[in-house]
Amino acid sequence: MTALHETVTAATTVSDAVEETARQPYEYVRRELVEPDWRRFPGWSHITDAQWRDAQWQRVHCVKNIKQLRAVMGDLLAESFYDDLVADQERLATMSMLLPPQMLNTMAPTATGGDITKEFLADPVRRYMMPVASDRDPVWPNHPHSSRDSLHEAEMWVVEGLTHRYPTKVLAELLSTCPQYCGHCTRMDLVGNSTPSVDKHKLSLKPVDRQDQMIDYLKKTPGVRDVVVSGGDVANVPWHQLESFLMRLLDIETVRDIRLATKALAGLPQHWLQPKVVEGLERVARTAHRRGVNLAIHTHVNHAQSVTPLVAEAARTALDVGVRDVRNQGVLMRGVNATPDDLLDLCFALQGEANILPYYFYMCDMIPNAEHWRVAVWEAQALQHAIMGYLPGYATPRIICDVPYVGKRWVHQLAEYDREHGISYWTKNYRTGIEHADADALSRHYPYYDPISTLPEAGQQWWRDSGE
Ligand code: SF4
Repeated sequence: MTALHETVTAATTVSDAVEETARQPYEYVRRELVEPDWRRFPGWSHITDAQWRDAQWQRVHCVKNIKQLRAVMGDLLAESFYDDLVADQERLATMSMLLPPQMLNTMAPTATGGDITKEFLADPVRRYMMPVASDRDPVWPNHPHSSRDSLHEAEMWVVEGLTHRYPTKVLAELLSTCPQYCGHCTRMDLVGNSTPSVDKHKLSLKPVDRQDQMIDYLKKTPGVRDVVVSGGDVANVPWHQLESFLMRLLDIETVRDIRLATKALAGLPQHWLQPKVVEGLERVARTAHRRGVNLAIHTHVNHAQSVTPLVAEAARTALDVGVRDVRNQGVLMRGVNATPDDLLDLCFALQGEANILPYYFYMCDMIPNAEHWRVAVWEAQALQHAIMGYLPGYATPRIICDVPYVGKRWVHQLAEYDREHGISYWTKNYRTGIEHADADALSRHYPYYDPISTLPEAGQQWWRDSGE
Protein backbone atom coordinates (compact mmCIF):
# COMPACT_ATOMS: atom_id res chain seq x y z
CA MET A 1 0.00 0.00 0.00
CA THR A 2 1.39 3.43 -0.93
CA ALA A 3 1.70 6.26 1.57
CA LEU A 4 -0.92 8.19 -0.42
CA HIS A 5 -3.29 5.22 -0.38
CA GLU A 6 -2.80 4.87 3.36
CA THR A 7 -3.59 8.54 3.90
CA VAL A 8 -6.70 8.39 1.69
CA THR A 9 -7.88 5.23 3.45
CA ALA A 10 -7.32 6.81 6.85
CA ALA A 11 -9.13 9.98 5.77
CA THR A 12 -12.05 7.96 4.45
CA THR A 13 -12.25 6.01 7.69
CA VAL A 14 -12.21 9.22 9.74
CA SER A 15 -14.88 10.83 7.56
CA ASP A 16 -17.00 7.66 7.82
CA ALA A 17 -16.59 7.76 11.57
CA VAL A 18 -17.55 11.44 11.69
CA GLU A 19 -20.56 10.74 9.51
CA GLU A 20 -21.49 7.80 11.72
CA THR A 21 -21.11 9.94 14.86
CA ALA A 22 -23.10 12.77 13.26
CA ARG A 23 -26.02 10.51 12.50
CA GLN A 24 -28.89 10.87 14.97
CA PRO A 25 -30.41 7.82 16.64
CA TYR A 26 -33.65 8.80 14.86
CA GLU A 27 -33.61 10.49 11.47
CA TYR A 28 -36.76 12.51 10.80
CA VAL A 29 -38.00 12.34 7.22
CA ARG A 30 -41.30 13.92 6.31
CA ARG A 31 -43.60 11.28 4.85
CA GLU A 32 -46.76 11.99 2.94
CA LEU A 33 -49.84 10.14 4.19
CA VAL A 34 -51.14 7.43 1.90
CA GLU A 35 -54.49 5.66 1.76
CA PRO A 36 -53.51 2.07 0.99
CA ASP A 37 -55.26 0.79 -2.13
CA TRP A 38 -58.05 -1.49 -0.88
CA ARG A 39 -58.39 -2.96 -4.36
CA ARG A 40 -55.32 -5.09 -3.65
CA PHE A 41 -57.64 -7.37 -1.61
CA PRO A 42 -59.69 -9.53 -4.00
CA GLY A 43 -62.99 -9.05 -2.16
CA TRP A 44 -62.72 -5.27 -2.54
CA SER A 45 -61.27 -5.13 -6.06
CA HIS A 46 -64.49 -3.55 -7.37
CA ILE A 47 -65.14 -1.10 -4.51
CA THR A 48 -65.31 2.51 -5.66
CA ASP A 49 -63.96 5.59 -3.90
CA ALA A 50 -67.53 6.69 -3.15
CA GLN A 51 -68.35 3.37 -1.49
CA TRP A 52 -65.13 3.50 0.52
CA ARG A 53 -65.98 6.98 1.84
CA ASP A 54 -69.47 5.90 2.83
CA ALA A 55 -69.73 5.23 6.58
CA GLN A 56 -72.72 2.98 6.08
CA TRP A 57 -70.85 0.87 3.53
CA GLN A 58 -67.95 0.58 5.96
CA ARG A 59 -70.19 -0.54 8.82
CA VAL A 60 -72.10 -3.06 6.73
CA HIS A 61 -68.87 -4.56 5.41
CA CYS A 62 -67.05 -4.93 8.72
CA VAL A 63 -65.21 -8.23 9.03
CA LYS A 64 -66.64 -10.10 12.01
CA ASN A 65 -65.57 -13.67 11.39
CA ILE A 66 -63.23 -15.88 9.45
CA LYS A 67 -65.69 -16.53 6.64
CA GLN A 68 -65.91 -12.79 5.98
CA LEU A 69 -62.13 -12.45 6.22
CA ARG A 70 -61.72 -15.18 3.59
CA ALA A 71 -64.20 -13.40 1.33
CA VAL A 72 -62.06 -10.24 1.44
CA MET A 73 -58.66 -11.89 1.26
CA GLY A 74 -59.38 -14.54 -1.40
CA ASP A 75 -56.34 -16.79 -1.67
CA LEU A 76 -53.87 -14.30 -0.23
CA LEU A 77 -53.51 -15.93 3.19
CA ALA A 78 -52.32 -19.46 3.85
CA GLU A 79 -54.54 -21.98 5.68
CA SER A 80 -52.01 -21.97 8.51
CA PHE A 81 -52.91 -18.33 9.20
CA TYR A 82 -56.59 -19.18 9.58
CA ASP A 83 -55.72 -22.14 11.84
CA ASP A 84 -53.67 -19.79 14.01
CA LEU A 85 -56.56 -17.33 14.14
CA VAL A 86 -59.10 -20.00 15.04
CA ALA A 87 -56.82 -21.30 17.81
CA ASP A 88 -56.64 -17.81 19.27
CA GLN A 89 -60.35 -17.14 19.03
CA GLU A 90 -61.20 -20.47 20.65
CA ARG A 91 -58.74 -20.37 23.55
CA LEU A 92 -57.21 -16.98 24.19
CA ALA A 93 -59.00 -14.01 22.67
CA THR A 94 -60.64 -11.63 25.11
CA MET A 95 -62.26 -9.62 22.32
CA SER A 96 -64.35 -10.77 19.39
CA MET A 97 -63.37 -9.82 15.86
CA LEU A 98 -64.72 -6.58 14.43
CA LEU A 99 -62.74 -4.80 11.72
CA PRO A 100 -64.08 -1.97 9.61
CA PRO A 101 -62.64 -2.19 6.08
CA GLN A 102 -60.71 1.04 6.80
CA MET A 103 -58.89 -0.66 9.66
CA LEU A 104 -58.23 -3.93 7.83
CA ASN A 105 -56.91 -1.94 4.88
CA THR A 106 -54.10 -0.52 7.00
CA MET A 107 -52.66 -4.02 7.50
CA ALA A 108 -49.88 -5.07 5.11
CA PRO A 109 -50.50 -1.80 3.26
CA THR A 110 -48.15 -2.40 0.38
CA ALA A 111 -48.70 -6.11 -0.11
CA THR A 112 -49.59 -7.12 -3.63
CA GLY A 113 -50.62 -10.53 -4.94
CA GLY A 114 -49.28 -13.93 -4.00
CA ASP A 115 -48.98 -15.21 -0.48
CA ILE A 116 -48.87 -12.32 1.97
CA THR A 117 -49.13 -14.50 5.07
CA LYS A 118 -45.65 -13.56 6.29
CA GLU A 119 -46.37 -9.85 5.96
CA PHE A 120 -49.69 -10.29 7.70
CA LEU A 121 -48.12 -12.16 10.59
CA ALA A 122 -45.48 -9.46 11.05
CA ASP A 123 -47.85 -6.55 10.55
CA PRO A 124 -48.10 -4.22 13.58
CA VAL A 125 -51.78 -3.34 13.08
CA ARG A 126 -52.72 -6.98 12.56
CA ARG A 127 -50.83 -7.89 15.71
CA TYR A 128 -53.26 -6.02 17.92
CA MET A 129 -56.46 -5.89 15.87
CA MET A 130 -56.46 -9.54 14.75
CA PRO A 131 -54.31 -11.51 17.20
CA VAL A 132 -53.38 -15.13 16.45
CA ALA A 133 -52.38 -17.82 18.93
CA SER A 134 -48.72 -17.83 17.86
CA ASP A 135 -48.44 -14.14 18.85
CA ARG A 136 -49.07 -14.91 22.53
CA ASP A 137 -46.39 -15.59 25.13
CA PRO A 138 -45.97 -19.40 25.03
CA VAL A 139 -44.88 -19.71 28.68
CA TRP A 140 -46.63 -16.87 30.50
CA PRO A 141 -49.57 -15.82 28.28
CA ASN A 142 -51.26 -14.50 31.38
CA HIS A 143 -49.77 -12.73 34.40
CA PRO A 144 -50.87 -14.24 37.75
CA HIS A 145 -52.06 -10.75 38.79
CA SER A 146 -53.89 -9.95 35.58
CA SER A 147 -57.61 -9.43 35.88
CA ARG A 148 -60.74 -8.49 34.03
CA ASP A 149 -61.43 -4.81 34.70
CA SER A 150 -57.79 -4.48 35.71
CA LEU A 151 -58.26 -0.79 36.51
CA HIS A 152 -61.26 -1.55 38.77
CA GLU A 153 -63.38 0.98 36.95
CA ALA A 154 -66.68 -0.76 37.70
CA GLU A 155 -65.81 -0.84 41.42
CA MET A 156 -65.63 2.94 41.24
CA TRP A 157 -68.95 3.46 39.45
CA VAL A 158 -71.00 6.06 41.28
CA VAL A 159 -73.89 5.26 38.97
CA GLU A 160 -73.82 2.57 36.33
CA GLY A 161 -71.09 3.45 33.80
CA LEU A 162 -69.81 6.56 35.62
CA THR A 163 -66.36 5.96 37.12
CA HIS A 164 -65.25 8.51 39.69
CA ARG A 165 -61.58 7.65 40.13
CA TYR A 166 -59.88 11.06 40.31
CA PRO A 167 -61.05 13.97 42.47
CA THR A 168 -62.06 16.31 39.64
CA LYS A 169 -62.63 13.95 36.72
CA VAL A 170 -65.08 11.25 35.75
CA LEU A 171 -65.32 8.70 32.98
CA ALA A 172 -68.80 8.28 31.48
CA GLU A 173 -69.21 4.98 29.67
CA LEU A 174 -72.26 5.58 27.53
CA LEU A 175 -72.32 2.16 25.91
CA SER A 176 -70.36 -1.05 25.65
CA THR A 177 -69.78 -1.33 21.92
CA CYS A 178 -67.34 0.11 19.38
CA PRO A 179 -67.14 0.13 15.58
CA GLN A 180 -63.92 -1.90 15.96
CA TYR A 181 -62.66 -4.24 18.63
CA CYS A 182 -59.01 -4.11 19.69
CA GLY A 183 -57.40 -7.32 20.93
CA HIS A 184 -55.88 -5.56 23.96
CA CYS A 185 -58.99 -3.65 25.07
CA THR A 186 -58.62 -2.67 28.70
CA ARG A 187 -62.43 -2.75 29.11
CA MET A 188 -62.57 -6.33 27.86
CA ASP A 189 -64.72 -7.10 30.88
CA LEU A 190 -67.62 -5.13 29.47
CA VAL A 191 -66.90 -4.06 25.90
CA GLY A 192 -67.83 -6.17 22.90
CA ASN A 193 -69.33 -9.61 22.48
CA SER A 194 -68.52 -12.58 24.68
CA THR A 195 -65.76 -14.88 23.47
CA PRO A 196 -65.22 -18.57 24.37
CA SER A 197 -62.90 -17.44 27.19
CA VAL A 198 -64.71 -14.30 28.40
CA ASP A 199 -68.36 -13.98 29.29
CA LYS A 200 -68.90 -10.22 29.12
CA HIS A 201 -70.73 -8.25 31.74
CA LYS A 202 -73.68 -6.23 30.54
CA LEU A 203 -74.86 -2.74 31.33
CA SER A 204 -78.29 -3.16 32.84
CA LEU A 205 -79.92 0.27 32.71
CA LYS A 206 -81.55 1.66 29.58
CA PRO A 207 -79.18 4.22 27.95
CA VAL A 208 -81.57 7.07 28.67
CA ASP A 209 -81.85 6.14 32.38
CA ARG A 210 -78.10 5.73 32.68
CA GLN A 211 -77.54 9.15 31.11
CA ASP A 212 -80.13 10.75 33.42
CA GLN A 213 -78.35 9.30 36.45
CA MET A 214 -74.97 10.51 35.20
CA ILE A 215 -76.25 14.03 34.67
CA ASP A 216 -77.91 14.03 38.13
CA TYR A 217 -74.64 12.94 39.75
CA LEU A 218 -72.66 15.66 37.97
CA LYS A 219 -75.20 18.31 38.95
CA LYS A 220 -74.88 17.43 42.60
CA THR A 221 -71.08 17.00 42.49
CA PRO A 222 -69.68 20.39 41.50
CA GLY A 223 -66.12 19.31 42.31
CA VAL A 224 -66.12 17.30 39.08
CA ARG A 225 -65.11 19.63 36.26
CA ASP A 226 -63.87 17.21 33.59
CA VAL A 227 -65.91 14.50 31.86
CA VAL A 228 -64.45 11.89 29.54
CA VAL A 229 -67.38 10.71 27.41
CA SER A 230 -66.50 7.23 26.36
CA GLY A 231 -67.68 3.64 26.11
CA GLY A 232 -66.97 1.63 24.11
CA ASP A 233 -66.63 4.29 21.49
CA VAL A 234 -68.91 7.33 21.24
CA ALA A 235 -69.07 6.77 17.47
CA ASN A 236 -71.56 4.00 18.25
CA VAL A 237 -73.96 6.28 20.13
CA PRO A 238 -76.69 7.43 17.72
CA TRP A 239 -75.72 11.04 16.97
CA HIS A 240 -78.93 12.67 18.27
CA GLN A 241 -78.49 10.86 21.60
CA LEU A 242 -74.84 11.86 21.90
CA GLU A 243 -75.59 15.47 21.02
CA SER A 244 -78.39 15.62 23.55
CA PHE A 245 -76.13 14.19 26.30
CA LEU A 246 -73.33 16.63 25.42
CA MET A 247 -75.72 19.59 25.46
CA ARG A 248 -76.98 18.51 28.89
CA LEU A 249 -73.36 18.33 30.09
CA LEU A 250 -72.75 21.80 28.69
CA ASP A 251 -75.71 23.07 30.73
CA ILE A 252 -73.87 22.13 33.94
CA GLU A 253 -71.88 25.23 34.85
CA THR A 254 -69.24 23.32 36.77
CA VAL A 255 -68.25 21.09 33.82
CA ARG A 256 -65.28 22.81 32.17
CA ASP A 257 -63.67 20.06 30.08
CA ILE A 258 -65.36 17.48 27.87
CA ARG A 259 -63.37 14.86 26.03
CA LEU A 260 -64.96 12.54 23.49
CA ALA A 261 -63.24 9.16 23.29
CA THR A 262 -63.34 7.60 19.85
CA LYS A 263 -60.93 5.25 18.19
CA ALA A 264 -63.28 5.43 15.21
CA LEU A 265 -61.61 8.69 14.20
CA ALA A 266 -58.85 6.38 12.95
CA GLY A 267 -60.70 3.07 12.62
CA LEU A 268 -63.74 4.48 10.84
CA PRO A 269 -63.00 8.12 9.95
CA GLN A 270 -65.93 7.94 7.54
CA HIS A 271 -68.21 8.15 10.59
CA TRP A 272 -66.77 11.52 11.64
CA LEU A 273 -67.03 12.83 8.07
CA GLN A 274 -70.78 12.25 7.68
CA PRO A 275 -72.59 15.59 7.15
CA LYS A 276 -75.08 14.95 9.97
CA VAL A 277 -72.23 14.20 12.41
CA VAL A 278 -70.11 17.17 11.28
CA GLU A 279 -73.09 19.55 11.56
CA GLY A 280 -73.99 18.18 14.98
CA LEU A 281 -70.40 18.43 16.18
CA GLU A 282 -70.35 22.04 15.04
CA ARG A 283 -73.45 22.82 17.11
CA VAL A 284 -71.87 21.21 20.18
CA ALA A 285 -68.52 22.95 19.59
CA ARG A 286 -70.21 26.32 19.17
CA THR A 287 -72.11 25.87 22.43
CA ALA A 288 -68.92 24.73 24.21
CA HIS A 289 -67.07 27.77 22.91
CA ARG A 290 -69.85 30.13 24.02
CA ARG A 291 -69.76 28.63 27.50
CA GLY A 292 -65.99 28.58 27.74
CA VAL A 293 -65.78 24.78 27.90
CA ASN A 294 -62.82 22.91 26.39
CA LEU A 295 -64.22 20.33 23.97
CA ALA A 296 -61.67 17.84 22.66
CA ILE A 297 -61.61 14.51 20.86
CA HIS A 298 -59.35 11.78 22.14
CA THR A 299 -58.54 9.02 19.71
CA HIS A 300 -56.46 5.86 19.87
CA VAL A 301 -53.90 5.24 17.12
CA ASN A 302 -51.07 2.79 17.69
CA HIS A 303 -49.11 2.78 14.47
CA ALA A 304 -48.21 5.23 11.70
CA GLN A 305 -49.79 2.89 9.13
CA SER A 306 -53.20 3.79 10.51
CA VAL A 307 -52.72 7.53 9.93
CA THR A 308 -54.12 7.89 6.43
CA PRO A 309 -55.43 10.91 4.49
CA LEU A 310 -59.00 10.06 5.54
CA VAL A 311 -57.97 10.05 9.21
CA ALA A 312 -56.28 13.44 8.76
CA GLU A 313 -59.39 14.76 7.01
CA ALA A 314 -61.62 13.61 9.85
CA ALA A 315 -59.35 15.22 12.46
CA ARG A 316 -59.11 18.51 10.55
CA THR A 317 -62.85 18.58 9.98
CA ALA A 318 -63.42 18.32 13.74
CA LEU A 319 -60.96 21.17 14.30
CA ASP A 320 -62.56 23.24 11.53
CA VAL A 321 -65.98 23.04 13.17
CA GLY A 322 -64.59 24.26 16.48
CA VAL A 323 -63.35 21.28 18.48
CA ARG A 324 -60.47 22.72 20.44
CA ASP A 325 -58.06 19.82 20.10
CA VAL A 326 -57.75 16.28 18.77
CA ARG A 327 -55.35 14.19 20.84
CA ASN A 328 -54.02 10.68 20.60
CA GLN A 329 -53.89 8.19 23.46
CA GLY A 330 -52.08 5.22 22.01
CA VAL A 331 -51.20 1.99 23.75
CA LEU A 332 -47.60 0.87 23.97
CA MET A 333 -47.33 -2.73 22.77
CA ARG A 334 -44.46 -5.02 21.95
CA GLY A 335 -44.58 -6.07 18.31
CA VAL A 336 -46.75 -3.08 17.48
CA ASN A 337 -44.96 0.13 18.38
CA ALA A 338 -42.53 -0.45 21.27
CA THR A 339 -39.45 0.94 19.54
CA PRO A 340 -38.28 4.56 19.41
CA ASP A 341 -38.60 4.61 15.61
CA ASP A 342 -42.15 3.28 15.59
CA LEU A 343 -43.25 5.72 18.29
CA LEU A 344 -41.61 8.70 16.63
CA ASP A 345 -42.85 7.77 13.13
CA LEU A 346 -46.37 7.61 14.56
CA CYS A 347 -46.02 10.87 16.47
CA PHE A 348 -44.69 12.74 13.44
CA ALA A 349 -47.50 11.36 11.26
CA LEU A 350 -50.08 12.48 13.85
CA GLN A 351 -48.59 15.84 14.71
CA GLY A 352 -47.12 16.83 11.36
CA GLU A 353 -49.63 15.42 8.90
CA ALA A 354 -52.96 15.03 10.69
CA ASN A 355 -53.07 17.78 13.35
CA ILE A 356 -53.55 15.17 16.07
CA LEU A 357 -51.57 15.86 19.22
CA PRO A 358 -49.50 12.86 20.39
CA TYR A 359 -50.59 13.05 23.99
CA TYR A 360 -50.15 9.75 25.81
CA PHE A 361 -48.96 6.23 25.31
CA TYR A 362 -50.40 3.94 27.95
CA MET A 363 -48.58 0.80 28.91
CA CYS A 364 -50.87 -2.09 27.97
CA ASP A 365 -52.97 -2.91 31.03
CA MET A 366 -52.78 -6.17 32.98
CA ILE A 367 -55.75 -7.87 31.38
CA PRO A 368 -55.75 -11.65 30.75
CA ASN A 369 -53.59 -13.05 27.95
CA ALA A 370 -51.85 -9.75 27.22
CA GLU A 371 -48.32 -10.63 28.31
CA HIS A 372 -46.90 -10.74 24.79
CA TRP A 373 -47.95 -7.13 24.25
CA ARG A 374 -46.89 -5.74 27.62
CA VAL A 375 -43.48 -4.20 28.18
CA ALA A 376 -41.66 -3.86 31.51
CA VAL A 377 -41.59 -0.51 33.29
CA TRP A 378 -37.84 -0.18 32.66
CA GLU A 379 -38.43 -0.71 28.95
CA ALA A 380 -41.09 1.99 28.97
CA GLN A 381 -38.69 4.32 30.80
CA ALA A 382 -36.03 3.68 28.15
CA LEU A 383 -38.55 4.42 25.39
CA GLN A 384 -39.61 7.65 27.08
CA HIS A 385 -35.96 8.69 27.19
CA ALA A 386 -35.42 7.73 23.55
CA ILE A 387 -38.27 9.83 22.19
CA MET A 388 -37.41 13.05 24.05
CA GLY A 389 -36.14 16.01 22.08
CA TYR A 390 -37.43 15.26 18.58
CA LEU A 391 -40.99 16.56 18.70
CA PRO A 392 -42.06 19.97 19.97
CA GLY A 393 -42.16 19.74 23.75
CA TYR A 394 -45.95 20.14 23.93
CA ALA A 395 -46.31 17.29 21.40
CA THR A 396 -43.90 14.89 23.06
CA PRO A 397 -46.12 12.16 24.45
CA ARG A 398 -45.83 10.91 27.98
CA ILE A 399 -45.63 7.19 28.48
CA ILE A 400 -48.04 6.28 31.23
CA CYS A 401 -48.46 3.39 33.60
CA ASP A 402 -52.07 3.14 34.75
CA VAL A 403 -51.53 1.58 38.17
CA PRO A 404 -54.50 -0.28 39.67
CA TYR A 405 -56.15 1.79 42.44
CA VAL A 406 -53.71 4.65 41.75
CA GLY A 407 -54.32 6.00 38.26
CA LYS A 408 -52.08 7.36 35.58
CA ARG A 409 -48.43 7.83 36.49
CA TRP A 410 -45.55 8.88 34.26
CA VAL A 411 -43.27 5.89 34.02
CA HIS A 412 -40.45 7.55 35.93
CA GLN A 413 -42.68 8.34 38.91
CA LEU A 414 -42.38 5.01 40.70
CA ALA A 415 -41.41 4.94 44.37
CA GLU A 416 -39.52 1.61 44.40
CA TYR A 417 -38.65 -1.01 41.83
CA ASP A 418 -37.73 -4.64 42.44
CA ARG A 419 -36.28 -5.49 39.05
CA GLU A 420 -35.60 -9.13 39.86
CA HIS A 421 -39.26 -9.92 40.56
CA GLY A 422 -40.56 -7.25 38.21
CA ILE A 423 -42.60 -5.42 40.82
CA SER A 424 -42.73 -1.63 40.86
CA TYR A 425 -44.40 0.30 43.67
CA TRP A 426 -46.29 3.53 43.23
CA THR A 427 -47.89 6.14 45.44
CA LYS A 428 -50.65 8.65 44.96
CA ASN A 429 -51.81 12.00 46.19
CA TYR A 430 -55.62 11.67 46.16
CA ARG A 431 -58.28 9.19 47.13
CA THR A 432 -60.31 7.35 44.52
CA GLY A 433 -64.07 7.30 44.90
CA ILE A 434 -63.96 4.16 47.08
CA GLU A 435 -61.27 5.31 49.53
CA HIS A 436 -62.81 8.23 51.38
CA ALA A 437 -62.65 6.27 54.63
CA ASP A 438 -59.28 4.64 53.92
CA ALA A 439 -56.71 6.22 56.27
CA ASP A 440 -53.77 4.53 54.48
CA ALA A 441 -54.74 5.32 50.90
CA LEU A 442 -52.15 8.08 50.54
CA SER A 443 -49.25 6.36 52.27
CA ARG A 444 -49.67 2.87 50.81
CA HIS A 445 -47.37 1.56 48.06
CA TYR A 446 -49.37 0.07 45.19
CA PRO A 447 -47.76 -2.70 43.11
CA TYR A 448 -47.55 -3.05 39.35
CA TYR A 449 -46.05 -6.09 37.63
CA ASP A 450 -43.67 -6.46 34.69
CA PRO A 451 -44.24 -9.35 32.27
CA ILE A 452 -42.52 -12.37 33.74
CA SER A 453 -40.76 -13.21 30.47
CA THR A 454 -38.82 -9.91 30.79
CA LEU A 455 -37.34 -10.89 34.20
CA PRO A 456 -33.91 -12.37 34.87
CA GLU A 457 -33.92 -16.14 35.33
CA ALA A 458 -33.92 -15.83 39.14
CA GLY A 459 -37.05 -13.71 38.99
CA GLN A 460 -38.80 -16.10 36.61
CA GLN A 461 -37.93 -19.00 38.91
CA TRP A 462 -39.39 -17.08 41.88
CA TRP A 463 -42.70 -16.74 40.05
CA ARG A 464 -42.65 -20.45 39.08
CA ASP A 465 -41.98 -21.38 42.72
CA SER A 466 -44.60 -19.04 44.06
CA GLY A 467 -47.23 -21.25 42.41
CA GLU A 468 -49.35 -18.23 41.53
S1 SF4 B 1 -61.89 1.18 20.70
FE1 SF4 B 1 -61.28 1.36 22.85
S2 SF4 B 1 -63.02 0.57 24.00
FE2 SF4 B 1 -63.26 -0.12 21.87
S3 SF4 B 1 -62.29 -2.12 21.78
FE3 SF4 B 1 -60.72 -0.63 21.22
S4 SF4 B 1 -59.66 -0.19 23.14
FE4 SF4 B 1 -61.63 -1.14 23.68
